[in-house]
Amino acid sequence: MAGPKSTAAFERAKQVLPGGVNSPVRAFKSVHGTPFFAERGEGPYLYDIDGNRYVDYLMSWGPLIWGHAHPQIVSAVQEAAVKGTSFGVPTELETQVAEKIVELVPSIEVVRMVNSGTEATMSAVRLARAATKRSYVVKFIGCYHGHADHFLVKAGSGVADLGLPDSPGVPKETAERTIAVPYNDIDALRDVFLQRGEEIAAVIIEPVAGNMGCVLPKPGYLQAVRELTRSYETLLIFDEVITGFRVALGGAQARFGIEPDLTTFGKVIGAGLPVGAYGGRRDLMELIAPSGPVYQGGTLSGNPLAMSAGLVSLKMLEAADKTGFYDKLQAYGQQVVDAFVDHGKQHGIPTYGHALGGLFGLFFHDGPVHDFESARESDSAMYERFFHAMLDAGVTFAPSPLESAFVSGVHGDKELDITLSAISSVFRTLG
Ligand code: PLP
Repeated sequence: MAGPKSTAAFERAKQVLPGGVNSPVRAFKSVHGTPFFAERGEGPYLYDIDGNRYVDYLMSWGPLIWGHAHPQIVSAVQEAAVKGTSFGVPTELETQVAEKIVELVPSIEVVRMVNSGTEATMSAVRLARAATKRSYVVKFIGCYHGHADHFLVKAGSGVADLGLPDSPGVPKETAERTIAVPYNDIDALRDVFLQRGEEIAAVIIEPVAGNMGCVLPKPGYLQAVRELTRSYETLLIFDEVITGFRVALGGAQARFGIEPDLTTFGKVIGAGLPVGAYGGRRDLMELIAPSGPVYQGGTLSGNPLAMSAGLVSLKMLEAADKTGFYDKLQAYGQQVVDAFVDHGKQHGIPTYGHALGGLFGLFFHDGPVHDFESARESDSAMYERFFHAMLDAGVTFAPSPLESAFVSGVHGDKELDITLSAISSVFRTLG
């Protein structure tokens, strides 16, 4: 339960911020709670303004793969800040980050930095429409690609959290250009292509869905999506805002061996500073202004603080990957999942979950979750009780059953012990 200082801070915030927050899911609505307010973070821990400490699996919704306030990232930002916070002319840092992304992600030849995941996906779709001279976009029900108009159609994350199928304010004509199909169902996608294949500019997909809980692609599914899109000359956009540098050094595309035409990034590449990027084949990316006619710009794009943090973080990941970093993250997440599932079994509570790299998902569901429909069947009331009891035991997950959990490179044995013993005692109260 939120302490008195957080409760008062939330009341005050509600006077001047819509719902008291700057991003809807932070309001703890779907778990019927009052959010705790952060005071500071340190490694795997988040501290609130009432003095409570939590083992953190929210990790700012994914960016903090090196935990809170990692000394190397903090000093990179400090060093950059004293030189100036923004210049409006190019810096070598931007090229260095771009070179690192090109080096580490198989399908990327050219990349453009932006300020958020939303900007990245929005711009990638504009580019795809311009390149193909087609207007329809296919997305998957329960996938979230940020808040640009054409993505607010059967979206996951905060949109699903509020029970919204779409959003008021999105023109009907725009929403009609987005076709939403079930995730992990290749026949449904094939049907859409049979009807409209020649008009579809792009298929955009979270290669591992992270916004309806964590949902893995079925074996062969991504390959089939790749083949289908290629046969219709439709561009395939992998939205790796969550999965990029998190499920493997080269993202989900490296992990599953698929080459998308365009890829979007956010979160991990800024290590907690506002950043996004989109990139892909040279012939496509060179359509972007000023080398081509497709307009997209940004006053703060390639910001030196964000670039410094991102560069250090990517270099640290590259070094850590040589000693099994992503396997270690996955082993950690898997132990949390196993404990969750085992305690569920012991207490007769349906539980299901899986881990991939630094991402894992916990569902109060009897059996596999492979799409939005099955994710939504999970017991949200039980998740709510679990979430609050875990908070009271000093562990924080996402304040919604339709989100993923994130592990960082600084979660260790001590945090795992705290988590596993909290799960054990919390399940005794849930049965
Ligand atoms: N794409 C995915 C897969 C995301 O999870 C998100 C945000 O959670 C976005 C895009 C939008 O990113 P941002 O919130 O930085 O705009």
